[in-house]
Amino acid sequence: MPAENSIAPQRAAPAPNAASLNAASQNAASPISASQSTASPNAASLSAASPNAATPNATSLNATSLNAASLSASVISWFAANARDLPWRRSGFTPWGTLVSEFMLQQTPVSRVIPRLNEWLGRWPTPADLAASSPGDAVRAWQSLGYPRRALWLHTAAVVIVQRHDGVVPRDVDALLALPGVGDYTARAVAAFAYGDRHPVVDTNIRRVIARAVDGHAEPGPPAARADLAAMSALLPEGRIEARAFNAGMMELGAVVCTARAPRCELCPLMSVCAWRGAGYPGYSGPRKAVQKKYEGSDRQVRGTILAALRAAHDTSTSVPRDRLEELWPDRQQFERALAGLLVDGLAVQSPAGVRLP
Ligand code: SF4
Repeated sequence: MPAENSIAPQRAAPAPNAASLNAASQNAASPISASQSTASPNAASLSAASPNAATPNATSLNATSLNAASLSASVISWFAANARDLPWRRSGFTPWGTLVSEFMLQQTPVSRVIPRLNEWLGRWPTPADLAASSPGDAVRAWQSLGYPRRALWLHTAAVVIVQRHDGVVPRDVDALLALPGVGDYTARAVAAFAYGDRHPVVDTNIRRVIARAVDGHAEPGPPAARADLAAMSALLPEGRIEARAFNAGMMELGAVVCTARAPRCELCPLMSVCAWRGAGYPGYSGPRKAVQKKYEGSDRQVRGTILAALRAAHDTSTSVPRDRLEELWPDRQQFERALAGLLVDGLAVQSPAGVRLP
């Protein structure tokens, strides 16, 4: 593991990894100890806040209320004392492990990822091991993590890593971005957390902390990659080790303290400088990102139902008769649409005997 293992000196094996800290991890238990007593807003007060309340001016707040160096020092110090013990933070966790965990954590909570991650890395400890298996094996091992295209992308990424990078997860952000399924966040998270390079890493938690503490807004609004990266860059410490700790600390802060629905300001290292808190928690009236449709009854549910049946088949080369699949969903039109989507996405393959994993 690279030198960034040293960024959280108060813990035995604290190599913080952005992977753990997506929005889904907000319910995880935190070892944070209470140190201050100012009341924080609860979910009810957040929603009740007046949408017409004055919104602080981001520029003036940046200039007067917050100093990037002291903000980062506060977060780094807090993180050193409060980082959760998670698999990807332990000594010896490989860049491949980081990449796999980042894929899994893109849409799935930490608690559901950890068992799958352990199984996955036990079976495929290197990209070459995964590349030597079939895509169907990857889809099958993905089980119920959701959004199974990630399994296919990860398999293809492993093949590319073997073919173009001698089986070593690339360190360069552009090379990482060229891998299937890797976007701005994942590429920089791998470069920063697996290799210790200095990059701004921006996930939904960091966007929320910046929106509140720096800009004085209750919510960050829809993602805007360029602006989001610039905002984090403006706060990022110069040193590589400090930058890495700051990235990880901001994610942790958003995951366990500055949560979307019920921020616990009394535990926050930014409490005294937070612009949103200082302004009296004004309500949010800006644009919001699109709300995802509910899973029940959706095409996603039908796809999941079909995939579960294909996974349950004896192995990835075993087809399930089509009429058996059709029995799984009463709405024939929706079934056909979902199956067609799986075929187009490469998550299922038609054969004379029926349908099977790729
Ligand atoms: S940054 Fe800290 S003080 Fe500000 S809203 Fe979030 S938890 Fe509260």
